[in-house]
Amino acid sequence: GQGSTRVNDTQASKAAQHPCYSISGHHRFARMHLAVAPACNLQCNYCNRKYDCSNESRPGVVSELLLPEQAVAKARQVAAAIPQLSVVGIAGPGDPLANIGRTFQTLELLRQQLPDLKLCLSTNGLMLPSVIDRLVDVGVDHVTVTLNALDPAIAEQIYAWLWFDGERYTGRSAAQLLIERQAEGIRKLTEKGILVKINSVLIPGINDQHLLAVSQQIKQWGAFLHNIMPLISRPEHGTVFGLNGQPEPEADQTAAIRQACGSSMPQMMHCQQCRADAIGMLGEDRNAAFPLSAVPVTP
Ligand code: SF4
Ligand code: SF4
Repeated sequence: GQGSTRVNDTQASKAAQHPCYSISGHHRFARMHLAVAPACNLQCNYCNRKYDCSNESRPGVVSELLLPEQAVAKARQVAAAIPQLSVVGIAGPGDPLANIGRTFQTLELLRQQLPDLKLCLSTNGLMLPSVIDRLVDVGVDHVTVTLNALDPAIAEQIYAWLWFDGERYTGRSAAQLLIERQAEGIRKLTEKGILVKINSVLIPGINDQHLLAVSQQIKQWGAFLHNIMPLISRPEHGTVFGLNGQPEPEADQTAAIRQACGSSMPQMMHCQQCRADAIGMLGEDRNAAFPLSAVPVTP
């Protein structure tokens, strides 16, 4: 109902410290992504697995994969060097929840060793309903779910296949299952008071006319922010869309759709489509200043 979509004080204070959730915060707070999650449980037609997950990040660059202990040692080093660091997130390079062991081990170590930092996670949503209690227990405040379609006829054009419970699904049945799991996961997160940002990849001719319905539905579910990300599909990336000549949106099309969706959901306009191992203020990446060789790891 009405109450679930209204921003309350707790939500506002949580959002203020996350550079992606708060317009004012993105000049004052820094974020760090830890690339600890290599595997994925589904195949988006805009992904070729050589690059970072579009849950959060821009295709075209590969993250240096870290073990949980390495990742947390690196986070401690960065926290000491960048006092504005307020958020540590897991965003890939695959899907964090397709790597449950590594992801939760990292989150638990962060919670123990850097208790003041906010924890953030992004996911395609397939495994969300199974881990809500664990996310609450470890103290994750922010979850981003990539939701590109609510209609299986549209979703089946975006996803090639998925793995669930040891079975492979394709076509309409994969699309239906993914949408059901995303819906259940998003509703449960907002019921628990976790701030939910929805990323939608804008794919011309496929979901461009549908994103308004997505923004209306996520408002009903109590999501906090909607981030409409223009598709990146260069043929040289070798994605299904890239190889099929799927066009990218023009800047004015993206702007018009964001404006239309803005009538139901606050829009994130300052997303930088960061790498899965980005470090620093939004728009900057200081990862190169923190090479793995310089990170002390005590087993
Ligand atoms: Fe690639 Fe992310 Fe899609 Fe998995 S969820 S296929 S890693 S874009
Ligand atoms: Fe924030 Fe967008 Fe970067 Fe994610 S990809 S950390 S939402 S700016």
